[in-house]
This record gives sequence, structure tokens and C-alpha cells, in this order.
Amino acid sequence: MNFPHELPPTEPPRAPVVTLVGAGPGHPDLLTVAAVKAIRRATVLLVDDLVGDAVLRYARPSTRIVRVGKRGGCRSTPQAFIERWMIAEARRGERVVRLKGGDPCLFGRAGEERRALEAAGLRVEVVNGITAGIAAATALGVPLTHRDHAHGVIFATGHTRDGAPSPDWRSLATLASQGYTLVIYMGVASAAEIERGLLEVLPAATPVGIVQHASLPQERRVHARLGDLHAALSRHGLASPAIIVVGDVLAAASPHVTAPSAQAGGAAPTPRAGLNPTTAAVQEC
Ligand code: SAH
Repeated sequence: MNFPHELPPTEPPRAPVVTLVGAGPGHPDLLTVAAVKAIRRATVLLVDDLVGDAVLRYARPSTRIVRVGKRGGCRSTPQAFIERWMIAEARRGERVVRLKGGDPCLFGRAGEERRALEAAGLRVEVVNGITAGIAAATALGVPLTHRDHAHGVIFATGHTRDGAPSPDWRSLATLASQGYTLVIYMGVASAAEIERGLLEVLPAATPVGIVQHASLPQERRVHARLGDLHAALSRHGLASPAIIVVGDVLAAASPHVTAPSAQAGGAAPTPRAGLNPTTAAVQEC
């Protein structure tokens, strides 16, 4: 007979978990091992538009894949809808993975989603990914903090949420003039404004680098000067998704540094060839 104090301690039931996973810049070789494990475990995958199909080949055939980004069949799936969906699926006992481009915690709305999931009583795990800015720097052959040129790096966005003031490009230019490399996400649409703001402090000859589709076979890179940033984007037809790097580290760019996409030229070995049928999130478009 067991007395109560001799009974093995019972774990309180644990809340369901949702995993926010960074898929890296696009090339499947740049996924982390933790990301691949999470994708393999998932029974439901909610996928942002910047996550390419090659990454999804790691999902099991039975996994339901739902595209919730802009290319999912509508302008974009509202954030509140995505959050409600994750909560409902996790409560139903599904292993929910939210797959985002790059790192989920860098311009990835991980904070908002974590708050909503925790408020619903769910647990949240985060799996880091290689952010696009780092992959873009490698594509440009640039160490972002080369100590001959920079002692810090600033990740900034060219696109603030509706109604919020634009980034203070003048102040960022001042920091850049003091040895901080600027890595600008979502900057293509506002390139003219970025150029104008930065030129208030930085010389027109300041080197800039632009990388579209970093790490992917269709990757494109352009080296230019700040005074020519907007014109260079138009001239080369560069569009989103692209990263703009600004700073003297670009003077240290090496043409000999290559990333996996340039070497392998294709997808990583995958556990199976086919792709799961994907669903677009069409509600509330
Ligand atoms: N969480 C992501 C960023 C999402 S914001 C990350 O850590 O990378 C979306 C922006 O990221 C795009 O507008 C673009 O500026 C950048 N981006 C994402 N993937 C990219 C890629 N493969 N190449 C260049 N820029 C990319």
C-alpha cells in the first residue's frame, strides 16, 4: 500500500505548444537542424509567403500545409485570423508549426504571435533561423562587422506599420558615419526616401549593396553608391524581397566568398521528392 506522500509526483498537464520556426533566407541547406526536426514533427504547418517550397519538402506527407502569406491567394491573411487558427489547431491536439522566413524574431511578428498564443494559455517555442540580412551580406562577400570598417551593425526596416512614423534615416546615417553598417529590410519601395534621408549625412559615394532573393538560385546582387541607390534598383529591375546594405564594409567585399546556393545550385538532399498539396488561407481576404 502506498501512502500519499510516497506516490510518484504527477506532472501537471502541460499546455499545448506552438513552435515559431525560422526557415532561413530560402535555401534549404540554411535551415537549422532544429528547424528540420520541428518541420518533421509538425502535423499542421502555417507558412509565410517568403518560405520556399524546397523547405517544405521536409514535411511529412500527412502534414497539412497552409499558406498564410501574400502569395497564398489573397492580399494577405489577417494577423488575428492566423493567431485564431493556430490556437484552434493546437487546442485540437495538432502539432502546430508556424514557419517564417529568416528568423522569426526579426521583423517577423514573433512578439505579437507569442503574446496571443500565451494569452490563450498555450506554450510557445522559438527556433531561430538565419536572417536574410546575414545571408545577403555573405552574398555580397561582406563581413558586416569587418573591424577595419565597422564596429557594429544596425538592422532597420524601410517599412513601418501603417500610421507609424518612417525611420529617422538622418539619425541612422549619423550612426553609419560613426562606423555602424546599416542592413535595411523591406526597403525597396521606399528606396528614394532612404537615399534622400541618408544623403543628409553620408557622402553620395558611400558604398551600398543590394541583394534580391539571397541564397536562392535566382539570387541577384548589385554593388552601387548611395547617391545612385534608387536609380540602381530601377536600372537592374530589383524588387522585393531584397536587402540593402550601406556602409564602408562593402569596400572589403570579396568576390571569392560564396554561399551554398552558388555552390550547390539546387535543393538539399531531401527525404522525399513530392510536395504536400498546400492550402491557401482564403478566409477574410
Ligand atoms: N524575418 C525575416 C524578415 C521578414 S521581413 C528575416 O529574418 O529575414 C521581409 C523582408 O526580409 C523582405 O522584404 C526582404 O527585405 C527581406 N528578405 C527576406 N528574405 C529575403 C531573401 N531571401 N533575400 C533578400 N531579402 C530577403
